[in-house]
Amino acid sequence: MTPSLISEAFGKPFAGNFELPPLGYGFDALEPFIDAQTMQIHHVKHHQAYITKLNEAVKSETQLAGKSLENLIGSINTLPEKVQMAVRNHGGGHWNHSFFWKILKPGTQLNGTLKESINRDFGSLENFQAAFEKAANGQFGSGWAWLISNQGKLSITGTPNQDNPLMDLASVKGKPVIGIDVWEHAYYLKYQNRRGEYTKAFWNIVNWEQAEKNYNTL
Ligand code: MN
Repeated sequence: MTPSLISEAFGKPFAGNFELPPLGYGFDALEPFIDAQTMQIHHVKHHQAYITKLNEAVKSETQLAGKSLENLIGSINTLPEKVQMAVRNHGGGHWNHSFFWKILKPGTQLNGTLKESINRDFGSLENFQAAFEKAANGQFGSGWAWLISNQGKLSITGTPNQDNPLMDLASVKGKPVIGIDVWEHAYYLKYQNRRGEYTKAFWNIVNWEQAEKNYNTL
């Protein structure tokens, strides 16, 4: 991701004073696929909590001052041991949610180089969607499913908890193009235990314009 996309997505982007980025749309903008109450709690409570805990954990580590979020989550193994878990869980939570809000928007179309690459690497959009849903629905417990790019080659991976494929400790690495939050807090109010309905509904609100931007900026 380029510096311009980082600053666009992450408000104050430095360790110790990370801030909640604006959602960029109303809590009800994704209705009926994701309900307004879920969006509000998810953004204002869950996402804010990751940021607060991340800032608390790193503020006393003066050698981390000025480091970007992507720098931190990309080098967890070399950070002071006492902040590694906080950066992994809360830094990951901050990055993942900042990314997630931007990849949601109703009414966009898949076009351009991303469409060509999905067809090349998965055979068809339908094949890709089935494989992505399988990864999302099959992620045990809390986590995420991702469409990632490695030098333009697309693949699907899942991560537990708030891990993501940019982390140095990720078993499968790559640059996220789209991602879905499959923690219960992302869907439980509306879908209860029916994660599969939520992951199917996700296709109505994927921001393909942002996905194309992510893909081409990698
Ligand atoms: Mn979440």
